[in-house]
Amino acid sequence: MKIINLDSKIELTPAQVSFAESVIIGGERHTYPIHYSNVSIIMNQIPIFLLAPESMPDENSIVDGWVDVRENHSENDEKEFKHELKPSTEWLGFYSHSNRIMGIETPSIGLCPERIIKCINTDEELCIAIAKVLIHEFAHAAMKDHPNANYTPRDEFYHWMEESMANVLTLEYFHRYNMEFRGRYHSKFEDKSARLREATTIITPFNFVKTFISQQPPNYLLGLDLFQYGFYDWKMWSRLKSNIQHKTNEKKEWLDYVKANVGYADPAILKQLFEALYK
Ligand SMILES: [Zn+2]
Repeated sequence: MKIINLDSKIELTPAQVSFAESVIIGGERHTYPIHYSNVSIIMNQIPIFLLAPESMPDENSIVDGWVDVRENHSENDEKEFKHELKPSTEWLGFYSHSNRIMGIETPSIGLCPERIIKCINTDEELCIAIAKVLIHEFAHAAMKDHPNANYTPRDEFYHWMEESMANVLTLEYFHRYNMEFRGRYHSKFEDKSARLREATTIITPFNFVKTFISQQPPNYLLGLDLFQYGFYDWKMWSRLKSNIQHKTNEKKEWLDYVKANVGYADPAILKQLFEALYK
């Protein structure tokens, strides 16, 4: 990964960077071609800028959830909040498809370590949360990597579909990383250091990420429903974005249903709604 600290007071440690890379690489090792994602390639191409909170875009006033609620609370309340609600991923990091840096147009990722630290309790959680945010942002880059992936202006439907799908992709990586770990653990040619790392791990990264997402704003939380019921086809969304943009009725039906049923969505109904969008 190419990490450039612009003005954050906190650097990423080599351990944090190599953990994020190993989730990405491990997560692609046993992928069926249909779900193949190229994050291990783009992670070495797209620069990641570390930013202080003051330098982060003020994007979150438009995102449902945590930040809006937080503004109505005092500093003391914020401490209690920390254990109950997690913010939108975009409060912690963002993906920008085109930025002009030193005269060159390039996609980039911004990451705010100061904000991520506010959402976690231990160094181990910090390591996983950084990987979670980075993979979520790389997921946006992967879902933009198609000629039909244009969708402007971005409406409410877009924020629900795009953010939930970015979390689906994130969950897929952590899930496969988990499987990879278990495989190694039971392997005849056992990797002792991997076994030791697993033995000293209090939480599994996959479970941490699921819990983190379960406390995010509803459009992010929807990713858990979609992952649980096997709606993994973020590539279809990526390929059809510009067509789906004009499907006003199908979009409204999908959005009305997921908003009313996030956390309890019925897979059979979801299937119908997705088929209508993808038709
Ligand atoms: Zn996002």
